[in-house]
Amino acid sequence: MSAAGGGAALDVTTLTAYRCRELLARGDVSATELTRAYLDRIAAVDEQVQAFLRVDESGAMAAAAAVDAKPRSGRQPWEGVPIGLKDIFCVKGVETTCASRILKDYIPPYDATIIAKLRTAGLIFLGKLNMDEFAMGSSTENSAFHTTRNPWDFDRVPGGSSGGSAACVAASEAPWALGTDTGGSIRQPASLCGVVGLRPTYGAVSRYGVIAFASSLDQVGTLTRDVRDAAALLDLIAGRDAMDCTSTGLSEPAGTPGRADLRGLRFGVIEEYMGEACRSGVREVFDAAVDSISALGGVCEVVSLPSVERGVAAYYLIAASEAGSNLARFDGVRYGHRTEHSEDLYEMYVRTRSEGFGPEVKRRIMIGAYALSAGYYDAYYAQAQRARTLIIQDFARAFERFDFLISPTSPTVAFEIGERAADPLAMYLSDLCTVPVSLAALPGISIPAGFSAGLPVGFQIIGPHFSERGLLNVAYALEQSLDVNTVAPLAETAG
Ligand code: GLN
Repeated sequence: MSAAGGGAALDVTTLTAYRCRELLARGDVSATELTRAYLDRIAAVDEQVQAFLRVDESGAMAAAAAVDAKPRSGRQPWEGVPIGLKDIFCVKGVETTCASRILKDYIPPYDATIIAKLRTAGLIFLGKLNMDEFAMGSSTENSAFHTTRNPWDFDRVPGGSSGGSAACVAASEAPWALGTDTGGSIRQPASLCGVVGLRPTYGAVSRYGVIAFASSLDQVGTLTRDVRDAAALLDLIAGRDAMDCTSTGLSEPAGTPGRADLRGLRFGVIEEYMGEACRSGVREVFDAAVDSISALGGVCEVVSLPSVERGVAAYYLIAASEAGSNLARFDGVRYGHRTEHSEDLYEMYVRTRSEGFGPEVKRRIMIGAYALSAGYYDAYYAQAQRARTLIIQDFARAFERFDFLISPTSPTVAFEIGERAADPLAMYLSDLCTVPVSLAALPGISIPAGFSAGLPVGFQIIGPHFSERGLLNVAYALEQSLDVNTVAPLAETAG
């Protein structure tokens, strides 16, 4: 019996992953019906949204059929629930490109640890989602293949680099998705697309099989329609992994958030983000959310973290330095693309990399090589590391007085496609409020807080290391009181 009754098509536009799980558990839908409904939704809207790089219809339908072949009583809780995956995760047998020409046609022979975990939990992989090439960008315009559009306004970017993941959830093409956040790539697109984006504490989730950008910053996290789904997906992927020596797992599972008030909690409003960097429409939504925290019994006070103003500069030096080193492996020998025209080995390297990498990736490799070079190391890389230490200390001091820190997630709402593409600095400033959290290895979540001129505005909550359980409960309480619509208008007209 189908959930919509009488065999009518199942409407997926408002479904959370929890709701999918309930429908499956009750037998209201089969895994095959649910997967089919999402594939139909993708077919109906993705020509416009362009969130996917690759839809794995046959793989998804085969996995769903395997779930349906088991008796319901013998299944695990999330078995049969579909998910979308950023194209940065190695999935055995499925082309994984990181949205780069240099990895075109690369088929990983293994699963990333998080993918293996989700496979074991019985989730259905719908396909690979668009992103900025090697996760470098804030708009998804740096993808070598196409630009994803914001489901709230097709002329605007979805944010980045996990823009495909955020857009696919906002457009109801999957109930939830996985992304990665190095300097803001989950929280910023979540903010611009009006969904929930969680970056866990560095080390909570294994990076094994996640294509590396900046290894001291990269972290896998979740894009979901609500906070409860974020907690559930985090618990599915978190954990120490022998294959990633920087992984530790969580100190306690996130569980199911259910907190109703914020009594007894102190929130620090980061003063440095309240100035002119924060555009007026964003500021008003932020102020209203602060009022909601107070109404729920939380105490909000302004706190200064002076060193966060060095965040963007420090981040772009450190991330580029690590990227330059990580991307050295793409040499035309081991993976993906190799030039067809070369006389000798050196020329093969140069041509392969010139043809394979896009302009932003080349820019980062050059900045990284420069920052690490003998004559400039102290002036740039070492200086950036000192700034990172100051940022870590500022946060540590703030957490002596406050349980959580709050700020807008992005200084602006979604900007127009092309608006910042020619101006790297303007693009880098999109990450103003998110990069310091990454540099300090802290967990942060963006939840939808309202709208400015019809476009979503995100609210960032930052917690101490490994405070995910508390952070998600606080986000849940605020989410319930704000009660913001997360279904993009396209969901009401298309599909
Ligand atoms: N926009 C930032 C950058 O381009 C962050 C990217 C990310 O978090 N992956 O580096």
